[in-house]
Amino acid sequence: MSVKPIRLFGDPVLRTPAEPVRDFDAELRRLVKDLTETMLDAPGAGLAAPQIGVGLRVFAYAVRGERGYLVNPVLDFPDEEDQEGEEGCLSFPGIYYDVKRRLNTVARGFTDRGDPVQIVGTEVLARCLQHETDHLDGVLFIDRMDQATRKQAMKEIREANWTGAVKVTPHRMTDRIF
Ligand SMILES: [Zn+2]
Repeated sequence: MSVKPIRLFGDPVLRTPAEPVRDFDAELRRLVKDLTETMLDAPGAGLAAPQIGVGLRVFAYAVRGERGYLVNPVLDFPDEEDQEGEEGCLSFPGIYYDVKRRLNTVARGFTDRGDPVQIVGTEVLARCLQHETDHLDGVLFIDRMDQATRKQAMKEIREANWTGAVKVTPHRMTDRIF
């Protein structure tokens, strides 16, 4: 097992845009494995490389039985539909708020061998693809909340005590924590 510590809000790596993967080598395959194992251990439905301190454009996901990962993702939105819903982030333990996202998302990227691959997501998977790709740009879910919601979330975040090892259990909505 290679379960890595998850970086929490306040760690500068979460605000640093990640670099594109250039070498599709054994190190990349190790990173995909670490991401997947750390995500499943958390447990969460998605995890981006910066969340384990690696500044590369890679994320893993496990949404309602659909499990995978993507390298160098680029998002495309096939329509204008939005969705409202609660969302959590493994880098913000215990914090759940409504975030407006696009309903349908197509993510194009690569496998760990460099082969092109595409993930078509709707609802929670679409939400996950957007949340994870945001992480790779240094964008966090608090940035996507409306002003009133963000204000409330920031208050709860300031009051939260995340020093030391954090394990918030049980998660009430594991399939929406990315
Ligand atoms: Zn997150």
